[in-house]
Amino acid sequence: MTEVALESNTAAGQGKVNLLGLPESKLIAFFETMGEKRFRAAQVLKWIHQLGVDNFDEMTNISKALREKLKANCEIRAPEVLRQLDSADGTRKFLIRVTGGSVVETVFIPDGERGTLCVSSQVGCSLDCSFCATGKQGFNRDLTAAEIIGQVWIAAQSFGQLRPNGPRKVTNVVMMGMGEPLMNFDNVVDAMNLMMHDNAYGISKRRVTLSTSGVVPQLDRLSQYTDACLAISLHAPNDELRNELVPINKKYPIAMLLASAKRYIESLPDTHRKITIEYTLIDQVNDRPEHAHQLAELLRDVPVKINLIPFNPFNLSNYKRVSNNAMRRFQDILMTEGYITTVRTTRGDDIDAACGQLAGEVNDITRRSERYRAQFSRAEPVTIVNQ
Ligand code: SAH
Ligand code: SF4
Repeated sequence: MTEVALESNTAAGQGKVNLLGLPESKLIAFFETMGEKRFRAAQVLKWIHQLGVDNFDEMTNISKALREKLKANCEIRAPEVLRQLDSADGTRKFLIRVTGGSVVETVFIPDGERGTLCVSSQVGCSLDCSFCATGKQGFNRDLTAAEIIGQVWIAAQSFGQLRPNGPRKVTNVVMMGMGEPLMNFDNVVDAMNLMMHDNAYGISKRRVTLSTSGVVPQLDRLSQYTDACLAISLHAPNDELRNELVPINKKYPIAMLLASAKRYIESLPDTHRKITIEYTLIDQVNDRPEHAHQLAELLRDVPVKINLIPFNPFNLSNYKRVSNNAMRRFQDILMTEGYITTVRTTRGDDIDAACGQLAGEVNDITRRSERYRAQFSRAEPVTIVNQ
């Protein structure tokens, strides 16, 4: 087997290479090792990612002999959709079971012409931010590139987007689901590359965003592999508070993180790109006017726009959602200081589509004890998984 094959293979693949997760460069290498022409890669990419084909027999511009060879050695396998939930406001959530039985979530959020897909990169997360349900779950494993791009494939399929002239529903992707994308660097970069590739989803680099809590050594490498947008999960204007909320800050403090983020954005060839600063507002923790002023001071020399996220409460956390007054006050201060500042409205309330919570519960419950189960108020997802 080639290096490509080994990298992309997954446990349930019975030795077959899953072509779903291979970006064009790896697909070319793969075909070359098979003694095939490079242009086969572009053909196969289009079949998979533009037409949603997961069966080699349908690839009619490929010779029968090659199709047989592909069938014998390869597969096109997206993870399994355990459940699709549709909200009254158009938000759609997928509970996706990956190899090994864990569940991750993917959320589609429509907003006029725009449709943003929130994609997961890991099962759980090792970084343990104090306000994050995914972090509370601990780390299970990295998703493969096929499992990451598979979430886009599944969502696009569900909207009929992967048909000739199908509706273009997924216009934006944010790596803001479960997991820390920079802790799964290679697979995330491969998947993002496919999102933006003309022979795959062709989403503009201005519409694909990687969100990180600040794994600085990996952030320092990022510009060699992608020119997608960058969001930094800051959540605090000083190291003392950030150490509490985002423990990785003890290793890579704010100044180091912002300097790295600035280098990334400045390395991109097109000017006027801005880093998105994500700031989850938690009642009485980081929502005071002095925090807003300190934040304004901190970001003075960094090209940013700020996105305020009201904290989503969950059962294992004592934090409370910011009050509307405090949120407005915080936003006003930043806007007066000259920052573009938006507030992320909560969508899909009726299907629990907020950041990383439902799948977190499912995984906790399936992996941990019955005693633990009693702590969760929303029992429904348990039933879904056990069915
Ligand atoms: N690990 C990456 C991406 C996934 S988290 C990161 O931390 O950036 C995506 C965003 O959701 C982050 O900004 C994160 O801080 C935020 N988030 C996590 N839990 C939240 C909660 N309970 N309420 C509101 N935002 C939350
Ligand atoms: Fe991991 Fe991001 Fe959650 Fe922190 S906020 S625990 S980095 S998923």
